[in-house]
Amino acid sequence: MSAPTPPHIVVLGGGSAGWITACLLHHRWGARGGRVTVVESPDIGIIGVGEGSTPQLKAMFDHLGITEAEWMAACDATYKLGIRFSGWSERAGFESYFHPFPGPVDLHTEPAFTHNVMLARRGADVPAHPDDWFLASVLAEAGKGSQAAESFPFAPSYGYHFDAYKLGAFLRDWAVARGVVHRPLTVEQVEVGEDGEVAALLCEGGERVTGDLFVDCSGFRAVIAGDALGGEFLPFADNLFNDRAVVVPTARVTDFKPQTGAVAMQAGWRWHIPLTTRTGNGYVYSSKYISDEDAAAELLGSVGLSEDDAEPRFLRMKVGRMRESWRGNCLAAGLSQGFIEPLEATALHIVIATALEFAEAYEAGGFTAQHRDTFNANIGARYDAICDYIVAHYRMNQRSDTQYWRDNAANQHLTDGLKAMLTAWFTHQDIAAANAQQYRIPAYAPMSWHVLFAGYGTFPPADRMQALPQGVQAADLDGVRELLAKSAGNFAAVDW
Ligand SMILES: Cc1cc2nc3c(=O)[nH]c(=O)nc-3n(C[C@H](O)[C@H](O)[C@H](O)COP(=O)(O)OP(=O)(O)OC[C@H]3O[C@@H](n4cnc5c(N)ncnc54)[C@H](O)[C@@H]3O)c2cc1C
Repeated sequence: MSAPTPPHIVVLGGGSAGWITACLLHHRWGARGGRVTVVESPDIGIIGVGEGSTPQLKAMFDHLGITEAEWMAACDATYKLGIRFSGWSERAGFESYFHPFPGPVDLHTEPAFTHNVMLARRGADVPAHPDDWFLASVLAEAGKGSQAAESFPFAPSYGYHFDAYKLGAFLRDWAVARGVVHRPLTVEQVEVGEDGEVAALLCEGGERVTGDLFVDCSGFRAVIAGDALGGEFLPFADNLFNDRAVVVPTARVTDFKPQTGAVAMQAGWRWHIPLTTRTGNGYVYSSKYISDEDAAAELLGSVGLSEDDAEPRFLRMKVGRMRESWRGNCLAAGLSQGFIEPLEATALHIVIATALEFAEAYEAGGFTAQHRDTFNANIGARYDAICDYIVAHYRMNQRSDTQYWRDNAANQHLTDGLKAMLTAWFTHQDIAAANAQQYRIPAYAPMSWHVLFAGYGTFPPADRMQALPQGVQAADLDGVRELLAKSAGNFAAVDW
């Protein structure tokens, strides 16, 4: 079957999700006559957070042919080699750990790490803290960048930090310069035909915007996929307690490290995102355990501000996902499609995957159900796998100081997949095999699961750890350290 004619696409929403989707779909189909129109309210703002990415954002810019020189300076962007988790465990020696984006050097060190982790899971007193074994951890700690000397083609993969407003504006200008039409209009109503398909967006002032495919990027409002079409929303609230965030910027840091900070707080955690012009801070918390006022006070205190110095901004989070991202001629992308809390900064990652996988499925079968159902199942599986990994951070926390952390540690609302992963860990099964078995689309590699559990020091109690039995050898940590130190010598310190 020949590929169907590209649809005329109407994207509702000009936040990061709207412009990413518009850029990707126009890039895919613009040369074949595909038209993209973005309808964005001049009155309703964007959410304006979401300043950390996975390496998928780099892949997207590479795919679009946009260089770092073009976009990074325009968006105050910095490199991100991973996330440093601090205060999630009270176990001595495990107060903090780094979750790295992997790279080719780690192919050589990861087996040694996994070997020691397995020994430690069985109670052997061997070094098994993740920070020692991965190049990205060493680079981030040393304040080095992700760009290696040309003679060393083994750089880790990396993501970015960026200003969300500036990223949207950059992508808008890039898209409009290539023929995407930008309509500053507020949608008042969605016209749905008797066949259940979206016919048009009815806008303030009487304008009626028609198209073949409507992409709902209207944020938590979910104007088309939720309000108009009544798409079923599957909440994650039982598994993930956090439902609010409070954000406040601080000055640019001088001791720059290319990492997101994720610091445990009384009733949640706060991010620390270094940009070239300022630092982004936000406390993600559960309203059941702390009031907005107390959360703001805790955040301000932790970043060295007083109530007189700053005006914190409060956000509500709708945590869960649509059962179907694609229904009829409507595709939901971004916050309208779903949101897992931002601990691993995966939201834009899913937006990019949604646009690219939708394009594949549409080319294979147009608006028929065959490829749409597979697409929906894959996107849903991706959300659920990411959700499990994030829930694991809370369920496995090694803190006991507040009710929030104690309740998270006692949370029994776990999926079968996550239960199986925890069982695999505690019964010394192979985590890679369990991951492949539980997740049709494993969103996280075995390395990430090992780093999470080992990073918290989830081993037998310290007083039960014993010397290695005779004949069993631990991995050569000194050798790994030497390899990583020599590798790190190929990277320069970042200078923003
Ligand atoms: C606390 C928090 C932290 C986050 N951190 C991260 C992170 O680190 N990394 C990450 O990848 N993601 C993160 N996210 C998610 C990220 O912010 C979003 O995925 C991203 O910004 C995309 O948002 P959006 O475009 O879907 O929605 P929005 O930015 O809310 O945009 C919605 C758009 O729809 C338009 N609109 C709405 N209704 C109408 C209407 N009736 N008519 C016309 N236009 C309309 C608005 O004008 C706006 O342009 C975070 C989210 C939260 C809440």
